Amino acid sequence: MNNICSHCKTSYEDIFESGFVGCEHCYQEIDNLRLALNSMYQGKKHIGRGTRRKNAQL
Ligand SMILES: [Zn+2]
Repeated sequence: MNNICSHCKTSYEDIFESGFVGCEHCYQEIDNLRLALNSMYQGKKHIGRGTRRKNAQL
């Protein structure tokens, strides 16, 4: 498990609070980041349920 991006030193908490990733590597460096962001942007909904995916690319 890794909670800090080794490229930009942004932590999981930083990203989760600000809503912005530090760099493009954060997704790979920080486990669960994509899941966390998805849940943050989509509220309580489950992923892959509907067709509202036009802005899913982060
Ligand atoms: Zn990063």
